[in-house]
Amino acid sequence: MNTAMTVSIVIGLVIAIILVIVLVYNLRKYRGSKLPDVVEQKGKYVHMNCPRCNHLNYVNENSYIKLCNSCGWNLTEPYIFTSCVLNINEELDIEKIFNDLKENDRVFLKRDLFVEEDMEKIAVLNKEYEKIGWIPGDVSKQLINDIEMSSKIYSIIKKIKPSRDIEILITNDAQKLYSEGT
Ligand SMILES: [Zn+2]
Repeated sequence: MNTAMTVSIVIGLVIAIILVIVLVYNLRKYRGSKLPDVVEQKGKYVHMNCPRCNHLNYVNENSYIKLCNSCGWNLTEPYIFTSCVLNINEELDIEKIFNDLKENDRVFLKRDLFVEEDMEKIAVLNKEYEKIGWIPGDVSKQLINDIEMSSKIYSIIKKIKPSRDIEILITNDAQKLYSEGT
């Protein structure tokens, strides 16, 4: 047997082995895509920090609902617990607004476009749906996105200060709202 023949046999064998590997790999891939969802979900786990309690969770990336092991929070929902002092709407009768408002009153939030300033702020409405004020621009900006990603938002009058400042609390954490609110 000469060397040229040996080399070509070896090359031929190597090519054959590569072909078999490619074939087996493709078959596996094909079968893999045909597997039912439940089987395919195995093994894709990721770390997710809970935005509510900071617990580090190890969750299945494919599962539709991802809950915190420690506090039960939905890990895909942003956590909102913010308070801020409103920019009062000076077009309203301020005396009347202050007389009607009480601490812990529910208020409502509404997106409000300021065309001249080319920015969106969150307006705060009282029970009569009157705009009593706006959440300051920087806080609004940060909240708009988070509010959109949340299933439910609660907002209450947290404090009415003697200086006539109205502080409101905005949260999507009903449990904490009621434990701190009243
Ligand atoms: Zn948690």
